[in-house]
Amino acid sequence: DIYNEESNEYSLLINQASNIAERFNYVKMITPILESTNLFVRSVGESSDIVNKEMYTFLDKGGRSLTLRPEVTAGIMRSIATNKLYANAELPLKYYYVGPCFRYERPQAGRYRQFHQFGIEAVGNPSAQLDAETISLGYLYLKSLKFSNVKVVINSLGDEETRINYRNALKQYFSQYIENMCEDCKRRFETNPLRILDCKVPEDNEIAKNAPKLSDFLSDNAREYFDKVLNLLKLFGIDNVVIDNSLVRGLDYYTGVVWEYHISSNDATDVGAIGGGGHYKNLLKEIGGPDLEGVGLAIGLERAHYLWSTLVKKEPVDNKLDFYIAPMGDNALEVGIKFATSLREKGYSVSIPYENKSLKSLLKSASKSNAKFAIIIGDEEINNDN
Ligand code: AMP
Repeated sequence: DIYNEESNEYSLLINQASNIAERFNYVKMITPILESTNLFVRSVGESSDIVNKEMYTFLDKGGRSLTLRPEVTAGIMRSIATNKLYANAELPLKYYYVGPCFRYERPQAGRYRQFHQFGIEAVGNPSAQLDAETISLGYLYLKSLKFSNVKVVINSLGDEETRINYRNALKQYFSQYIENMCEDCKRRFETNPLRILDCKVPEDNEIAKNAPKLSDFLSDNAREYFDKVLNLLKLFGIDNVVIDNSLVRGLDYYTGVVWEYHISSNDATDVGAIGGGGHYKNLLKEIGGPDLEGVGLAIGLERAHYLWSTLVKKEPVDNKLDFYIAPMGDNALEVGIKFATSLREKGYSVSIPYENKSLKSLLKSASKSNAKFAIIIGDEEINNDN
């Protein structure tokens, strides 16, 4: 439950997100929370922890397998494909979203089973500039919330050639250890050995530390593209960038550049990345759409809110009521109601009590309501036509 002051704070974070996305010419998209399970299996990927362990999946009364969305990108791609939004459209298509997502994870600080994401997707007409612009949108959003220490951690997963060579190298390396590694790793070894690098089991993690590094396998083209994006980040106003060759992200659809946003501070619990994103070459095609590349990011609003309220917030975010109308008597109430209606029509927020109250208690309520102005209407003045 998010309520009272906290819900005002969420509204602020969400309004600011929409505002920044619209500054980059993104338009809002709303997709269903329930999608066919198959959509996530095909996009987020069979080898990901999300699909393997974290989805809320059930059969509906018609026997269809449905899933509460664990992320929104797949739904946006499905919508682009099924509604043919690419036909006769100026590319890239630019959509943003805000809404709840569901993952069956162990709840802890910054990790919930229902959480909210703000995100964007730019599809079609890929370029290093568009990747850099996407990274900068999330960066600008966090800067606009007045975070002072936003860091972009970035890596490249390379192109097809890179991934085939790297996959082979990982298979070769892990083949000597896999017998004694955890069951998840055994599965990952077959489906996507890259995922073994994320294993949280300490013994497996030790083995993974000495695995071949992706950066040694980047093809010339992939390296050149990555360098281009890195060089562009300054132009787009990003000054705190760290390259991390071990960053792979938890969703299978990413190819090329991937990144995360981190806020570092000793005053807050480390809740992990506040958001992240990446380039995806084949996602839309794989779910039945045209062959258009995309790039996108998602920011977790619970983490953004926790860090913002711990590190940035100075004053309470109140409801900013414009007027509290205090009518003293029946005739005054009638005038007050008319007045409230006309103020609301003009765009002001107004509160008016309908019960009989003494002046003292009216003023007390007015003060509690946090209104900018109280309007006191006296019955006698009304009766005397004053
Ligand atoms: P992802 O979709 O995995 O790339 O995650 C993007 C962002 O969503 C993360 O950086 C978090 O801020 C947020 N996030 C992901 N999973 C959770 C969760 N279980 N609880 C809260 N926030 C989450």
